[in-house]
Amino acid sequence: MSKKVAIFGGGIAGLTAAHELVEKGFDITVYEKNEILGGKARSFLLNGNLNPTMQYAGEHGFRFFLHWYENFHDTLKRIPTKDNKTVYDNLVDVGEIQVDDFTFSFIESHPNPTKPPIAWLKAMLSSQKRHEEEFEQTTWDSYITSNLRGTESKEMIRFFQNTPKATASVHSTEASVKALAHTLNRFFTNNGLGILNAPTNDALFDH
Ligand SMILES: Cc1cc2nc3c(=O)[nH]c(=O)nc-3n(C[C@H](O)[C@H](O)[C@H](O)COP(=O)(O)OP(=O)(O)OC[C@H]3O[C@@H](n4cnc5c(N)ncnc54)[C@H](O)[C@@H]3O)c2cc1C
Repeated sequence: MSKKVAIFGGGIAGLTAAHELVEKGFDITVYEKNEILGGKARSFLLNGNLNPTMQYAGEHGFRFFLHWYENFHDTLKRIPTKDNKTVYDNLVDVGEIQVDDFTFSFIESHPNPTKPPIAWLKAMLSSQKRHEEEFEQTTWDSYITSNLRGTESKEMIRFFQNTPKATASVHSTEASVKALAHTLNRFFTNNGLGILNAPTNDALFDH
């Protein structure tokens, strides 16, 4: 008889744990307090009757999946859909994203990632000890403004101030240098992202 496991929370973490355990033969029950699955990544159910064929009215937030999400992509490839494909096939590559008035392009990299500013390189190449002791306490905004001013164009400074919003949903005044340096490293060395071709609950969770 397979072992029973109860998972509380039907967000990405709970559902991923459930998926892994089901594949290993456990008998899983997921308890979710919302009326639909997905947690912070869920779609919003339609209130009213704008379009009776549409179940979902919108999303909890913007939703993109960067190319470096290797484990996440691996999970998507193991979720079959009714048409004999997998949920991974619901991901579509995008060439450009816009955050406020700022556009990040993956077609013509902007700025050129082969020429990253020295300040960013310095953060990237610093020791683990410096990241833990100094960069963990330093905000990305103060680091960028004090290190780039005078050496880089205003456009470059603005680009790096806006990057945390696009890559990690966090303001540059709140993100640490430690967190952002690593995120940016991934962003520039594994350029690109995918979005889903339907509301997240249709394309990802309801399978
Ligand atoms: C606005 C916004 C935009 C984002 N955009 C992106 C993006 O583009 N790309 C990306 O990769 N990530 C993005 N994220 C981050 C990503 O959505 C989250 O990291 C992820 O959804 C978190 O999943 P989780 O399962 O850890 O937690 P949650 O999604 O918070 O799931 C926890 C679940 O547990 C349930 N729960 C809590 N307590 C109980 C209980 N006692 N009993 C039963 N159920 C319970 C909650 O209702 C919830 O459904 C974004 C986040 C936000 C807020």
